[in-house]
Parts: sequence; structure tokens; C-alpha cells
Amino acid sequence: MTDTSKLIAGRTGQWEVVLGLEVHAQVASNAKLFSGAAVGFGAGPNQQVSLVDAAMPGMLPVINKHCVEQAVKTGLGLKAQINLKSHFDRKNYFYPDLPQGYQISQFKDPIVGEGEVIVEHDDGTTFTVGIERLHLEQDAGKSLHDQDPNSTYVDLNRAGTALMEIVSRPHMRSSAEAAAYVKKLRTILVYLGTCDGDMEKGNLRADVNVSVCRPGAYEKFRETGDFSHLGTRCEIKNVNSYRFIQQAIEYEARRQIEIIEDGGKIDQETRLFDPNKGETRSMRSKEEAHDYRYFPDPDLLPLELDPTWVKAIEASLPELPDPKKARLQSQYGLSAYDAGVLITEQARADFFEEAAKGRDAKLTANWVTNELAAKLTAGGLAIEDSPLKPDAIAELVALIEEGVISSKIAKDVFERMWAGEGRPREIVEKQGLQQVSDTGALEKIIEELIAANPGQAEAVKEKPQAIGWFVGQVMKATGGKANPGAVNQLLKAKLGIE
Ligand code: ADP
Ligand code: MG
Repeated sequence: MTDTSKLIAGRTGQWEVVLGLEVHAQVASNAKLFSGAAVGFGAGPNQQVSLVDAAMPGMLPVINKHCVEQAVKTGLGLKAQINLKSHFDRKNYFYPDLPQGYQISQFKDPIVGEGEVIVEHDDGTTFTVGIERLHLEQDAGKSLHDQDPNSTYVDLNRAGTALMEIVSRPHMRSSAEAAAYVKKLRTILVYLGTCDGDMEKGNLRADVNVSVCRPGAYEKFRETGDFSHLGTRCEIKNVNSYRFIQQAIEYEARRQIEIIEDGGKIDQETRLFDPNKGETRSMRSKEEAHDYRYFPDPDLLPLELDPTWVKAIEASLPELPDPKKARLQSQYGLSAYDAGVLITEQARADFFEEAAKGRDAKLTANWVTNELAAKLTAGGLAIEDSPLKPDAIAELVALIEEGVISSKIAKDVFERMWAGEGRPREIVEKQGLQQVSDTGALEKIIEELIAANPGQAEAVKEKPQAIGWFVGQVMKATGGKANPGAVNQLLKAKLGIE
């Protein structure tokens, strides 16, 4: 286990942060978990509510097979144990947007058990986060406090929507790692098609558990599995962007360190992150499982899965991010870093593979992950909607490979492609951007330069590295279009150096 913790300096010494996440992912499904009501964003209030969702007396929940399949798929994608027998429990609590008075969830026997997620650091190295469990549960409705000065309205469209709660082990050691974990988890879910990953709509959100401890304590926890080596955690509810996850953690870790250093102790509590203030604040003291009086839902039979059905789902899985990454590395000779960037989105990896056909893969990867990605980000565009298609990037790479243009000129050509000036070859021809490899023309420029700068020429004979100055001058004279290889050769010949 490599130590990836980030030390935080306090008044009384160093601290470390330990993080475990509970991610709620809305299941991609047309209907709710226990009713046939539609699931969708943007419908008018209470337009997608069945009698089951509204908890009318005598209504009975019926499990949606598609949602179960999505949970199994996700479990397989997390390399997790699929439990062929699981059951649903009632989690009892009162809330105006929860007409049942309980949430149907899975407490004791979840549908998915232990698994793992391999997560990329920024530099391309990886770390592993253990998954404790994944269970299916219903979402609640929504209270609307801002529609009327005197009343609160309730919209039950979301009530009964299927959620997967994915509980990680406390295996993250910095805010950056927590964000990277959610990113990777999101990538896997989107590849699988089990959640659309839309964080802005709240379809993927995280409860972030934060504790702090002294250096060394976490290692003891990992060796023994004994949680008492860790500090008391606070749980920050429903954080729905990478930036907020990081801000909430940074703030919360500092807050806890200050309390402990002032001689206080951390109360295990549920907190809320306020994005406007960048602070977390207490919501309620942490409830214990027994507060919810969980018990098996008598309206639902235990969920039993047919092993051949599970096998069939496994056989139908798409190529997932990790195997794709390994394949891109071995098939195209890409670095772990490049492959890691390409697989963050399936469409990006597809774009690359399409563009790289018969081309220099490394060069193609660079254009896709650097210039093109930067333009797409700036324009708020998904790669699927890129105005430049893989064949255009392939043509640009071909021009570089053939020595028609230098990488530097290629950037100019790319800008023009992006601006809609046409195909790369057309642009090069129209603008006269071909590299000058014509020896006659280059020779003339070089002879003039040497004649005009006899001192520099002498210096190069003494110190051959100084040739760079001449190369620069030739480039300048040709507007960057001289072929650097040809220039070097000619210069050496004319200056009489080896
Ligand atoms: P609850 O539903 O009560 O929050 P769960 O077991 O569902 O409990 O989730 C607990 C989460 O808190 C897990 O993600 C776990 O990894 C994390 N966690 C547990 N102890 C700590 C700790 N000391 N520091 C940070 N995270 C922790
Ligand atoms: Mg929790």
C-alpha cells in the first residue's frame, strides 16, 4: 500500500484526513423502482406520481426488474460480489416529502457486496478504493420552500425513483482523491448505462464522511481493520459537484483539527455544505441504525436472482474503462496517463480509435486530449458534438507525419480548422503553410545568414550547440515553415561541422 495521504499542518503537529463516500446514483430507468410511474426531469410538479408513490392506503409495491438488472450490472462493473438473495427493509422516518413514512431500502442483505474501484491520480498512477456494498432504495420527493412566502409545497415526481447507494470503504486520503474516485465511479456507471451521471440534476451525489487522525493511525486501521484507530467522522450530505466535494472536505478537515487542537472532541453528526459560504454546518446529530427501526418490508418477497440470468448480464457488459485502458496501452503503445485521459468518456476513446487508424497513435492521442479537448471544454461541447470529426484530426496528423507541416504550424492549421476554414490539406494549400524542404531555397537563406553573421558562424565552429541560433533565424525567415531536419543538415554542411 503506497501512502498517498496529504499531511495537514495543525498548531500541535501534523494531521491526516480519512474519507469514505456514500454515492447515490439514480438508476437509468423509464419507470420507478416499485411503480410504473415515469421517471424524467422537467415534468410539471406531481405529474409523475402513481398511487404507490403517493402512498395511498392499500397500494402494493412491485419490483421493477429493469432496475434490479441495472444494480446487478453495476455490481459486476465494480468487480463486486452479486448476492443471489437479498431483501428490502423499511427505514422509518418522518419527512413531509416521504408520504409512506418510511423509505424502502436494503439494510441487512444488500443486492451487491464487496467490490473495488481503481482510481487514477492526476499523474496517471492509480490507487484502489474498496466498495463495501451497493444497495437499491427509493428516492424521496422534494419540498419546495421558495414557491410561496407562507407555505411549503411538495413535489412527489422523484418519490419512488430507484437509487443505487454505493458505499465505499474509508480508503481516500485527500480531497483530490475523493473527487477522483467519484469521477471514476461516474465513468464506470456511464459506460454501463446504469446511471446518466448528471450531477447538475442531482442524479449522482455523494455523502462525504470525513475524519482526521495523526499520521500512522490510518496504516494501523488498514492493518487491523479496527476503526478505533480512526477519528470520529462527520457526514456531509448530498454534495453534487467535484468542486463542492473538495471544498467541503478541505473545510471540514480544518474545522475538526481546530476543535481537537482546542481540546474539544468531534461529535458524530450529519452536516450540510453551503456552497455560497464554502462552509459545512450542523444539520442534526448522527442518527443510529436503531433510530430508523429497520425491518423487512412485509409487502415484498426476498429478491432472488437466477444465476444464469446474472451470467447473461455479465456476458452482455460493454468493454469497461479499466480493460479499455489496458488495451489502449498495449494496442497503441500509449502511456498510462494518455490512456487514462482517453477512457474518461467512452465517446472520447471511440473518437481516438477512429482517428488513430493507420496514424501515429501517440500523436493522435495528443491532439485529441490536448488541443481538441481544450476547444471542446471552452465551448462547453461534448466530444460527440465536436464540429471536427475523427477523420479531420487524422488528416492533420497525417500532414505532420508526412513532414508537410511542422507540429507548430499544425497548431495554426488546427485553429483554422476549428474556425471552419476547411479540411487540413485545403488550409495548408490555401495558406501556403507547407514546410520548406526545398534545399535550394533554404540554402540561399542560410548562405545569406552566414554571410551577415560571421561572428556567430565562428562561434558555432567552436561550440556546435550554438547552431540553435541559426536554426531559429532560418525559422524566422521562413515564417516557421522550414523543415527543421533539412535546416540542420544544410547548416552543418555550410558551417563545416559534424
Ligand atoms: P451510515 O449510513 O450510518 O452513514 P454507512 O455504513 O452506510 O453508515 O456508511 C458509512 C460511511 O462512512 C462509509 O462510506 C465508510 O467508509 C465511512 N466511514 C466510516 N468510518 C469512517 C471514518 N472514521 N472516517 C471517514 N469515513 C468513515
Ligand atoms: Mg451515511
